Amino acid sequence: MNGPVSIEVLRQHLIDPEICIRCNTCEETCPVDAITHDDNNYVVKADICNGCMACVPPCPTGAIDNWRTVLKADAYPIEEQFTWDVLPEQNTMAVPAADDSPGAGASGDTSADASGIEVDTVRGAVVPPWSAAKPYVNLYTHKAPTTATVVGNYRLTDSTTDSDIHHIVLDFGSMPFPVLEGQSIGILPPGASADGRAHHARPYSVASPRDGERPGYNNVSLTVKRVSEQHGDAIDGVCSNYLCDLKKGDVVNVIGPFGSTFLMPNHPNSHLLMICTGTGSAPMRAMTEYRRRRRLKGATGKLMLFFGARTKEELPYFGPLTNLPKDFIDTNLAFSRTPGQAKRYVQDAMRERAVDVANMLRDDNTHIYVCGLKGMEDGVLQALREIGEQHQMDWDALWAKLKREGRLHLETY
Ligand code: NAP
Repeated sequence: MNGPVSIEVLRQHLIDPEICIRCNTCEETCPVDAITHDDNNYVVKADICNGCMACVPPCPTGAIDNWRTVLKADAYPIEEQFTWDVLPEQNTMAVPAADDSPGAGASGDTSADASGIEVDTVRGAVVPPWSAAKPYVNLYTHKAPTTATVVGNYRLTDSTTDSDIHHIVLDFGSMPFPVLEGQSIGILPPGASADGRAHHARPYSVASPRDGERPGYNNVSLTVKRVSEQHGDAIDGVCSNYLCDLKKGDVVNVIGPFGSTFLMPNHPNSHLLMICTGTGSAPMRAMTEYRRRRRLKGATGKLMLFFGARTKEELPYFGPLTNLPKDFIDTNLAFSRTPGQAKRYVQDAMRERAVDVANMLRDDNTHIYVCGLKGMEDGVLQALREIGEQHQMDWDALWAKLKREGRLHLETY
């Protein structure tokens, strides 16, 4: 007689290629390196993923939150996932009645995994500030994008510099496209990659406040740097070149909005500590402009900005920024390549203003936003630690509290 047959069932974690905007957040977040990608798709290695859920809350689109119950022996290999344009249907199969496998109850989980294990590998908050407005996400997708008309495209950086950064204004006409400061949208560039597949959307942070670049209009602005080299090699960025070359009246395909955690607090006495480099200034501009408009209506919280660029000429929004009243925003610029001057990064400027940064850290109404180059993340967190500890704060306890309360947000690429 045959003995009992043991069939191992797996709730396999998968990424929806139709929604994914290839922002790399999941791959960076995964504590066990189970996520990887090729030119086509982001995929999950079934033999490594432990269902810890660390990657789920930071995903701006929810593409990460997909699961298929399969026989373990039949788990989809990454080679197959790389070829997908859509997720496979769930096959009908007998599954255990009690769904206690990793990944159950995925949506809305924050920093604990399905078995209650605390996930402390995420460096920023995975929840929004308590007073943030409720965002709309995924109203338009790769399959069903909307269109916007270009109503402005202006170079922000000095024409003598190599940094070609544009301020691009897109109008949605009568099509609803509600966005909040800190959210992003996806642009679908025309054309296809070498293998004939249509280009995927590229995400850009919105640089305008929720009531529009022009107040009361259904439009948004983006801050886009023309990409012409990567790691020292000459390349033409597919989407950035497309966007920077757009003319007034051109029509673009747009998806989104995305992002449900990197959002600003709505309570009027909340303070914003904003730290950014280059085009990472986009969400800071959106928040600053919203607070500037709201200030007239009684917002009293402090704004402190640390903003880094190679030179003054390469800093987007330099003119308007330096014209803002000093009693509205405390602006600190750091330039790394000014001829004849020492290299200075945002974290150097933060250390110079340690007393004021410490005062903000002590205040439970302070919300911290970091956006820009990936490389700045370590330096900025280290500066915050040093400043906190110099001022008798237990940084590890404070860091955990800031994350728990949705008061420390990181968005770096
Ligand atoms: P960039 O011009 O290359 O650099 C900006 C400044 O950051 C330079 O002064 C640079 O100094 C400095 N920097 C380099 N490494 C640093 C570090 N470890 N710590 C602190 N500062 C450092 O910047 P960019 O080309 O504009 O890139 C901005 C980044 O923001 C991109 O990665 C982009 O993907 C990201 N981003 C863009 C958006 C958007 O909507 N467009 C939104 C979010 C994020 P050096 O002189 O040493 O180079």
